Amino acid sequence: MEPVPSVPVDVSEILEDSTATVVADGSLAVESVDVGPLTFPATSPARYEVALTNVGTGILALGEVRLDVTATCSRCLVTYALELAGRIERFWVQEEDAVDGDDGPDIEPLDGTTIDLGPAIHASLAAEVPWIPVHSEDCLGLCAVCGGDLNEVTCDCEPARLASPFSALEGLLEDGDGDGTD
Ligand SMILES: [Zn+2]
Ligand SMILES: [Zn+2]
Repeated sequence: MEPVPSVPVDVSEILEDSTATVVADGSLAVESVDVGPLTFPATSPARYEVALTNVGTGILALGEVRLDVTATCSRCLVTYALELAGRIERFWVQEEDAVDGDDGPDIEPLDGTTIDLGPAIHASLAAEVPWIPVHSEDCLGLCAVCGGDLNEVTCDCEPARLASPFSALEGLLEDGDGDGTD
């Protein structure tokens, strides 16, 4: 999803009229949602519906966005379909002073009569992707020894045993029986 596509919305109709609302909805072609090392290829356009309301001190945008993506299970590496559904909540203020100092990522200065919803849509989708995608909560993952998909095969591999610091301790405990006359 780079670069972020712009979604310009003309708000000139509501700028002079406190409490007026304009609704922006539509679909937006998206290639993928990328977060850190993870890529979620899109299998649909992003569908958004956002109400922009003049609340006196600025324009408040409230809405939602949905996107179908393909995710890769972090345990068994199978790909599976996932629908991202994110909330959009962002505020554009008319007086630039109001943004100074405490400007959070969701508050922006209103510049002219057009608002670009693209970054808000992008941020909303990026916030919805799972950090550790799992195709099912019960996913058994891959065998660490033979690489078989344990959801589909039962292999006879011994579980990989790592040398444990406790194995040496166990030996000591077995040797010494506590009375010192071993
Ligand atoms: Zn899985
Ligand atoms: Zn195995």
